[in-house]
Amino acid sequence: MADGAISDATTITLGATIDDVRRQNLSQVLRLVHRDGPHSRSDLTRATGLNRSTVGGLVLELSHRGLVDENDSTGPRRVGRPSPTVSASDQTTAIAVNPEIDAIDVALVGLSGAVLQRVRYRNERVPTVSEFVNIVSALTAGMRPYGSGRQALGIGVAIPGLVREADGTVILAPHLGWQDAPIGRMITDATGYDVVIGNDANCGVIAENTFGAGRGDGVVIYLNGGASGIGGGIVINNRLIAGEGGNAGEFGHTVVTSVGRRCHCGSTGCLETEVRRERLLSALSLMNTEPDDLLVAMELAWLDRRSVGRREMERQLSHLGVALRSIINVFNPRRVILGGYLAQLLAVVGEHELRGWIAPTLPGASAEPDLVGTGLADALLLIGAAELVFAPALEDPTRVAER
Ligand SMILES: [Zn+2]
Repeated sequence: MADGAISDATTITLGATIDDVRRQNLSQVLRLVHRDGPHSRSDLTRATGLNRSTVGGLVLELSHRGLVDENDSTGPRRVGRPSPTVSASDQTTAIAVNPEIDAIDVALVGLSGAVLQRVRYRNERVPTVSEFVNIVSALTAGMRPYGSGRQALGIGVAIPGLVREADGTVILAPHLGWQDAPIGRMITDATGYDVVIGNDANCGVIAENTFGAGRGDGVVIYLNGGASGIGGGIVINNRLIAGEGGNAGEFGHTVVTSVGRRCHCGSTGCLETEVRRERLLSALSLMNTEPDDLLVAMELAWLDRRSVGRREMERQLSHLGVALRSIINVFNPRRVILGGYLAQLLAVVGEHELRGWIAPTLPGASAEPDLVGTGLADALLLIGAAELVFAPALEDPTRVAER
């Protein structure tokens, strides 16, 4: 994701043509209802500073392109004329895919951010690239929105690894064993859909920034604990910081101990070698990896100070605390969002306990960020992958043909 792709700033430049201005106005209205939910026409008029008839024309055009729906107000009927609400239309969708070592998740996500349909394919073993493409092709065939009047703008894939978004290549997904794989082209060949790929943690950041706990200005740090390791992302004033090669925010490779395990990156004692879901699962004697089972097992283990599970949770908390201390000292964030099983760990032990493991950070009340779990549960990465697909249409709604 290029820097700024999640910014909703609309700037009208000098020399813009009437078409440019109209596209920017369409984009502004669509982003408002996409990001902030349903608006009445008068809310849109106020928020955009455009006049009523212009807003009416924009809403009509977006509706013809299947991007917004206009309904009679569903809220309490006020005195006088009911004001219809304009909302992002779930008739326009994206197919979102997230491969992990233990499962492949596929979902149909509406333009409102709602997950309309979801399938989880359990892997017997880590799939090869071509097995993955075949599975995605089969699962998306079952999801093609035939007959429902829905359109799918493409497929977005959240990859646990390094990617080159420009040509849809997975550079390295170490836990999946994929390297230099042209996944985007392969999925397009198999399904006919346009495909966008992104790093999974960046997808998480985009989803949180658009719909979840990461909304608003300032510095927001995101840390996701997935089956294959820990990813992260940095958002500053609604802009994802991608870095020169797109690899900024790889907090999983923050060194947390000099005597830890060897990491696939070549270093020793990285956050993701010490704080690992599989080490927790094994301490809790869990074979099943359903998120709810892990949560319940952690809650039970935490009650018994001498249990193997509790000791492993404390060991992971101590390493997580070291990493967060560095991250907080470097970025001085407003908010730190934990996703995946790290959100569950936070839910079980509580913010106060986690702060105890992080302390001390640099002094000053303003250096104390909020520590919160993801607001979007485990659909986070799928919603973010769908956002990759929606981004061009949000930028320029005229890319979506009138229906
Ligand atoms: Zn490492």
